[in-house]
Amino acid sequence: MTDTLGLYFHIPFCRSRCAYCGFYSNAAAVPDAYIDAMLREVELRSRTFHQDVDTVYFGGGTPSLLTAAQLTRLITGIRQHFPVRPDAEITMEMNPCDMTASFLETAYSLGVNRLSVGVQSKDDRLLQAIGRRHTASEAKQAVKRAYRTGFRNISIDLMYELPGQTAEDFRRSLVWAMHLPITHLSIYSLILEEGTRFTQLAEAGKLPRPSEAESWAMYQLMCRIPPHYGFDRYEISSFARKGFESRHNEKYWRLDPYLGFGPSACSRIGHERWQVLPGTRRYMHELLLGHEAPMEREALSEAEEMEEYCFLHLRMQRGIPLADFEQRYGAPLEHWYGAVLETLTREKLIAEKEGRLFLTARGAALGNTVFESFLRSDDIE
Ligand code: SF4
Repeated sequence: MTDTLGLYFHIPFCRSRCAYCGFYSNAAAVPDAYIDAMLREVELRSRTFHQDVDTVYFGGGTPSLLTAAQLTRLITGIRQHFPVRPDAEITMEMNPCDMTASFLETAYSLGVNRLSVGVQSKDDRLLQAIGRRHTASEAKQAVKRAYRTGFRNISIDLMYELPGQTAEDFRRSLVWAMHLPITHLSIYSLILEEGTRFTQLAEAGKLPRPSEAESWAMYQLMCRIPPHYGFDRYEISSFARKGFESRHNEKYWRLDPYLGFGPSACSRIGHERWQVLPGTRRYMHELLLGHEAPMEREALSEAEEMEEYCFLHLRMQRGIPLADFEQRYGAPLEHWYGAVLETLTREKLIAEKEGRLFLTARGAALGNTVFESFLRSDDIE
């Protein structure tokens, strides 16, 4: 576990809601009072936490909806209250529609050094179907503009299993993406999240879904094409050129300490986890009255934490560092999961090498099945 801290800032505002998105956000501009509330939360938290900060992440929602003045106030305030290291990774999620030259220059001059851009597909028909407001060509121009501004660590998101998408559509998106000036790629299949327009359509039988064979073909393309262009699959959904893995996301997967600010943001310090409750109005109201953000705390039992440790580490190509596990939980992994390990090894879903236990290619394709077998709190006294 590291001593340094990651900070996450949730900006729960979007211009409009995408049809598939289950993230907590409001379709509205960011009010200045939201920045006031966040800065208040920053000040309150900084009284307790004094560690150096080596990653900062602005996520959402759509952080690129912030005005230049709001972003400047927020980043300046964070630096005033937390010791952000000079070499910290500072990531901002951006929507291609907001990536004007002037906004990019502001972000760059404030020290943002990594962008995560929601590109999703190179197919305008699909972009429209999922409710994105940009075309593929606009997304490409935005990424190139960011590169010209000076950003040398740019990640994009792509999606597959979209309604009406074929494996050939997805192949074209992947190859197209490989020719953008990017260092990192996150690839997600469409998940039908509760409460989204897509879920309603699916329930009404009106959402075309790819066949199993088509889904498998897309998965295979995802496994093959980025590595062919030098992007290593270092995590189940993430691909990076060497040295460009997301340092912030790695904190989540390694159970390292991080603080989350803003409604619905999660924090983890040691064995404790808490989440600021969703509800932007209430969040602003409480903080502007000088109170703490309303939150729910959760002390994880050792069994629960061990489960999380296992499946989050297994998401990463490097897998579970067995000596670290033993040191942390007082006994080797086999002590807790002997039968599970035996079955998964026999089925060639996991393998062990140089003190690490990791998913095989077959295990990665059946990731959820493997992760579920580590959920066994009830069996542990
Ligand atoms: S996908 Fe991004 S832009 Fe679309 S609604 Fe969700 S958070 Fe907002």
